[in-house]
Amino acid sequence: MGDDVKAVVTGGAGFIGSHLCDLLLAQGRDVTCVDNLSTGSDENIRHLSGNARFKLLRHDVTLPLQAEADEIFNLACPASPVHYQRIPIETTKACVYGAINMLDLACASGAKILQASTSEVYGDPQVHPQTEAYWGHVNPIGTRSCYDEGKRCAEALFFDYWRRSKLPIKVMRIFNTYGPRMQPSDGRVVSNFIVQALRNEPITIYGDGSHTRSFCYVDDLVDAIARMMATPDDVVGPINIGNPMEVTILELAELVLRIVGGTSRIEFKPLPQDDPQQRQPDISLARSALDWSPRVALEDGLGETVRYFRRLIG
Ligand code: NAD
Ligand code: UDP
Repeated sequence: MGDDVKAVVTGGAGFIGSHLCDLLLAQGRDVTCVDNLSTGSDENIRHLSGNARFKLLRHDVTLPLQAEADEIFNLACPASPVHYQRIPIETTKACVYGAINMLDLACASGAKILQASTSEVYGDPQVHPQTEAYWGHVNPIGTRSCYDEGKRCAEALFFDYWRRSKLPIKVMRIFNTYGPRMQPSDGRVVSNFIVQALRNEPITIYGDGSHTRSFCYVDDLVDAIARMMATPDDVVGPINIGNPMEVTILELAELVLRIVGGTSRIEFKPLPQDDPQQRQPDISLARSALDWSPRVALEDGLGETVRYFRRLIG
């Protein structure tokens, strides 16, 4: 697989996108990373700068793009609540205009296109665990709506382009993912807890810590993304990708403390508006359609992530 295949990865300088660029290059593709470096970092892709098969195109996906492409992986979007709530209108535009522009690029270049959608399309779910058939429970006017509704609109666009022109689309609903190259200050729970523990600062739990998430290690996730792109054209999704092992936020804090050591104590803070109470993917479809399931246990993945942050922040 891979010879002369031209892949475009939007958001390729971000946390997940940079790992995806690594994998696609290892599979022999030419990779164009399209990124405006708003929440990503050129540090994430610095190791690729001498690679003749890799190039960075600084570009905002809210503007049309012309490029050669056989495969488009559309990941460009602020993903952490701290970021998207700081720039909510830009976030909706990245989701909606970004989807339109990349779908138009796919039509023009004859490429397959994969959308990095999210478990946030389920909102604060009333069905547990979440299957792809669930339509979700999303506040359309809250502080998370720019992201949730932006991603829902992007899914609608993908399916309208597919219905209209049979464009080969792939829609993945990604659940919470963690690993090296998360930004230390992007406010997500795994990076916050690890950085706080390494600095012996209080671990900030929002709410009472009884709410849940299910965390997938980034290597497992990018493996699933590559598998999804390789599926036949009639596999369009949406397909949930995530690790079904659900933990409370308090359990996560205790696990991070155990791995890092140190003297941090736990501090409870108010729960942000519309923060989902529970989240766990049903991955039956990913198992059958992609022959995929996560391999990395939470403790092992956290260990790798702690090693990364230790090197980064000392
Ligand atoms: P990230 O913030 O690290 O990466 C996003 C990248 O997109 C950054 O490099 C940023 O600079 C770039 N970007 C943002 N707006 C852009 C624009 N208008 N034009 C060009 N580039 C732009 O986030 P991530 O965690 O790597 O997430 C990647 C994708 O995966 C996102 O689409 C996100 O919604 C999705 N996702 C992530 C998670 C997760 O847990 N990390 C969960 C579900 C879905
Ligand atoms: N969270 C927390 N402390 C933090 C950061 C986040 O308790 O320092 C909580 C947050 O309120 C949410 C969960 O951890 O309930 C996951 O947050 P994150 O921002 O990582 O992802 P998302 O809410 O988008 O799933």
